[in-house]
Amino acid sequence: MSTYPYVYDVIIVGAGPAGSTAARRLSSQGMSVLLLDKAIFPRYKVCGGGLTGRAASQLDIDISPVVRDAITQMELCCAGRYPHTFVKSDPFIYMVMRDEFDMLLLQAAIEAGVRFQPGTRVNRVTCSEAGVAVETDAALYHSRYIVGADGVNSTVAKQLNLMQAKRKILALEYEMSVDGPTLERFQGKVAVDYGFIDGGYAWVFPKLDHLSVGVGLGTRDGRFLQERLAAYLSREGIVGRFLSEKGFWLSVGASDTDCVRGRAALIGDAAGLVDPFMGEGIYYALRSANILADTLALGIAAEPDAPFARYRQRVEDELVREMQLFQRAARLFYAMPVRIHRMLVAHPKMVDHAFRVIAGETTFTDFYQSYRRNTLVRAVSAIGRMARRRDVR
Ligand SMILES: Cc1cc2nc3c(=O)[nH]c(=O)nc-3n(C[C@H](O)[C@H](O)[C@H](O)COP(=O)(O)OP(=O)(O)OC[C@H]3O[C@@H](n4cnc5c(N)ncnc54)[C@H](O)[C@@H]3O)c2cc1C
Repeated sequence: MSTYPYVYDVIIVGAGPAGSTAARRLSSQGMSVLLLDKAIFPRYKVCGGGLTGRAASQLDIDISPVVRDAITQMELCCAGRYPHTFVKSDPFIYMVMRDEFDMLLLQAAIEAGVRFQPGTRVNRVTCSEAGVAVETDAALYHSRYIVGADGVNSTVAKQLNLMQAKRKILALEYEMSVDGPTLERFQGKVAVDYGFIDGGYAWVFPKLDHLSVGVGLGTRDGRFLQERLAAYLSREGIVGRFLSEKGFWLSVGASDTDCVRGRAALIGDAAGLVDPFMGEGIYYALRSANILADTLALGIAAEPDAPFARYRQRVEDELVREMQLFQRAARLFYAMPVRIHRMLVAHPKMVDHAFRVIAGETTFTDFYQSYRRNTLVRAVSAIGRMARRRDVR
């Protein structure tokens, strides 16, 4: 059997939140890590940049230099009707621009000893018992293990035939320069309207000197999303200069955890780890990176040719189960947003509990267990099931 001259312990493809975090953590454990990204950093990333408190708590890094706003209020409405602002005493979401946030995480990885190679697109990946070979436009690299953190259209996943059943959903995001009063109106507040598009929502996220506005989930029709976002902006009275107008995919559907094979594993979007209810992905990118870093050394000691079994098991137990609950919640919620909206307004304690989940003070499973026996929730669920059955017929 031929052996590769291992140059690196791990090659990580993709320097988003998942890749940089896994790289930093593995390097801190003494592994030699090469991090490759096709982009030159800092790079713009289409994203709302809503970093939930639970996502922030996955990081042992000071993120304050890149926080553009700390959110204590959420305004919810349904196609402009029944607006209601919920307030939490402490911030539960932080607003970041992804070029700044991702650069902060990457810088921390480099400081931890990771070798970073920007402007390097990975084209081919070959895994064998001998090791891993990674081919880019300019060079061939070798390692013992590979981690695909290369996002929703992951080349690593395609090359290794992993996660091919994951579902892609579309979202549109504009960055807008607006006048002072409009900026002030949204300071410390996110606005969410879930009556604007079936199965999804429109949003305004404040970014200190501009607004991020978007619409998504529920459809793959980009033209339709453009129309809906224009209508949403008009209704909200938001006018200004467009700094960026882009759409991008989110990958949901980690119900099939086909994210590991032999010497390879996927994390973050590459593993389909985005919640199908609100589209939160940064938390799962960081969490999956941390789980991988927590389990790899033990995995190598137990089974050097296939060390990711523990990672896969924990993703299944801790993340995929949660995604499945989110999927149920999404089906119910988007089947009858007005009814559920009214229920939320009438039950501020329930909303406060949900905010504590977002803030990372408790878990979604705890929230689900607390309310699944609630009479009102059961009644609403039953109506949702009936509505869905009618749809199927
Ligand atoms: C419109 C929109 C709004 C969103 N808003 C939010 C939000 O507010 N909050 C939230 O939590 N989530 C949000 N998300 C989801 C979030 O952006 C993703 O879940 C998150 O970026 C996943 O991080 P990642 O590290 O897995 O991948 P990414 O951040 O996508 O990073 C992947 C990296 O891989 C690199 N790469 C790709 N292919 C290759 C290759 N072949 N070779 C080398 N490098 C490669 C890319 O250049 C990129 O840097 C949003 C998504 C969209 C589309």
